[in-house]
Amino acid sequence: MLSARRAVVLLCLASAASASLAGTDGFAPWTDSGFLGADQRWLHPDEIYPRGVPALPFELDATVMFARGTPWTQARAVRQIRRTAGILGACGVRLGRIRLARLPLGPDRRRIDVSESDPATGVPAAVAELSALLPAATPHPVAFLIARVAGTESLAVSYRARDERGPGAPYLNTAWIGYRAHWLPRKDEEYSALAHEFAHLLCRCGHTAGPTRHLLHSARNFLASTVLPEHCRRIASSPLLTVTD
Ligand SMILES: [Zn+2]
Repeated sequence: MLSARRAVVLLCLASAASASLAGTDGFAPWTDSGFLGADQRWLHPDEIYPRGVPALPFELDATVMFARGTPWTQARAVRQIRRTAGILGACGVRLGRIRLARLPLGPDRRRIDVSESDPATGVPAAVAELSALLPAATPHPVAFLIARVAGTESLAVSYRARDERGPGAPYLNTAWIGYRAHWLPRKDEEYSALAHEFAHLLCRCGHTAGPTRHLLHSARNFLASTVLPEHCRRIASSPLLTVTD
């Protein structure tokens, strides 16, 4: 009896110790993912909305993963997420459950080369392989914050379904963002590469030119945090969103 009680106490101490270790930065092993050694946590709403969660008609759950060994850090990922919340808020979309994960990717996996895309799918092998490691219940869209997107002038790329009724693939609704997209000086400091890529996926649309700066402009120096009304309308009809109560 006594030894049984001691065992329970020891177990509690052991789990408390591991909880405090994991709690040093809030990450815990992501045991249900195919990413060996990945850590994850759910963002607290206060981290996304320091001034309170806004009441908005739509909610977006998402996953943001940043690769270790790159200039991406947890703080930089959260900064992108906060800016994304501010930008999409103008379209009536608030961020809901956001899973933040850090990935121990090897050096050859921290970059993707879109010039080496499979002609049949239009997707590089690394994109298909890494996307396939995500557990089935992963909130989409999923952003991979990586070292570099090569083979294109773009600093980031995303993959949206051409035909929403067609068969799904794990890489659909994923975005791949090189760190230069975070560092590039912008006239509009509220602009976010993460919001830009998520907007592509929600809007199911490409770039638009025009005389005014906006989130999905085709010219890099015309990119801004404002969203065109027609893009907002399409974003609000995205099947990735849920309607809030
Ligand atoms: Zn774009």
